[in-house]
Amino acid sequence: MIVGIERYQISENILSQFIESKKSRNLLLVNTITPILSLNISLGLESANKEYLDYIARENADLTFIEIKTIDKKTLYTYSLPNEERRDHSNEREYIDFCSKNINDAATEDVVGVLHLHFSDSDYQNIMSKNRWLTLKIFFMTLVLLGTFVFLIRREFKYLNILSENVLSYDPKLNNFSLTTTQRQDEVGIIHNAIVSMVEKIGSYTKILDDVNLSLEDKIKERTKELEEANKQLKALAVTDELTQLSNRRHFEEYFQNSWDLAKRKGLAVSLIMCDIDYFKKVNDTYGHQAGDEVLKKVAAILRKSLKRSSDFVARYGGEEFIIVMYETNLDVAEELCKRVQENLKNADAFVFDGEKIGHVTMSFGVSCTTPKRDDNSEHLIKLADDALYKAKRSGRNCIVTF
Ligand code: GH3
Ligand code: MG
Ligand code: MG
Repeated sequence: MIVGIERYQISENILSQFIESKKSRNLLLVNTITPILSLNISLGLESANKEYLDYIARENADLTFIEIKTIDKKTLYTYSLPNEERRDHSNEREYIDFCSKNINDAATEDVVGVLHLHFSDSDYQNIMSKNRWLTLKIFFMTLVLLGTFVFLIRREFKYLNILSENVLSYDPKLNNFSLTTTQRQDEVGIIHNAIVSMVEKIGSYTKILDDVNLSLEDKIKERTKELEEANKQLKALAVTDELTQLSNRRHFEEYFQNSWDLAKRKGLAVSLIMCDIDYFKKVNDTYGHQAGDEVLKKVAAILRKSLKRSSDFVARYGGEEFIIVMYETNLDVAEELCKRVQENLKNADAFVFDGEKIGHVTMSFGVSCTTPKRDDNSEHLIKLADDALYKAKRSGRNCIVTF
């Protein structure tokens, strides 16, 4: 575009210089021939003008028309190329191909005629049309270049648009980047390939991360399960007596308090049986402590077996002493259970330890029962059962005392 404008300006300058030089050349010719014509006319040698002007016309290829007219419009001389005859010479213009000059009398200086000259402007027209054509060519070339430039820019923008849309909508979890590497070697191609390679790396790292997360999740699940299991065991351990695997005293206290509260709320009876192995010290002393432990385990199993209802609860209270909670149970039913235990102890196989026969053991039972009232204390029921047990021991053992 700039080249076109510059080219146009330069040719405009050259053209104006050309026009100026042509004008001054024409003027020079007119100024040269006018004095001779003036002299001829002054001397009455009008026919000499014809010969002289014919010669000039022949020698000057640029001249297309020559005319001399007197003041009273009488034509003294005419020379014209065929094309020029058709021209309207009445409308005189200030034009590069037109010159007009008065012919003055050499002596009196009076105007005796007017000389008209026309010069061919074909060379000027040629230059003009060539210049116009060149300018047009430059214009069209510029248009084509501009169009191509706009087309390429738009194509590049479309390309970059697709690229940026892909980048913006890319989600590593969905792995939705649809572009692959390009063969383009330009800057856009380099950026494109860099993005593709970055997306590939993000994809592979995401996969690694997902795998790690998955295995981590599995491990956490596994550990949680182990922990839950350990907690369960710990909880069971916390409420279980290690030797007999019955509930321990802590568990009894919790269970008994709950049963007591519930019985109080519902107005139901709750019974307690406190039982103790008779002469247990003798077992230990005779057969050893380990044999005593075995007896404790067997007695615990017999006690557990003797319970009928799911709400009946037995615990090791301490040493060779056990306690049974019977919710919604009256004294008679509790006593029945004591008898059942006595029966089961009696009918059990004789206890043997290390090949040595220990034989059977008996137990003494203290039973208490109450329907707790609002201000009643659960401790009191335990004391009553304990007192009853004491009485049973006093009464010769292997017996049941109810309170
Ligand atoms: P009583 O008929 O009056 O109850 O007499 P007893 O001998 O059973 O009672 P005593 O209180 O005199 O003795 C209880 C014994 O029980 C003493 C203690 O060494 C023993 N004992 C307590 N706990 C355990 C235990 O876990 N294992 C063993 N082997 N013996 C225990
Ligand atoms: Mg005892
Ligand atoms: Mg005891």
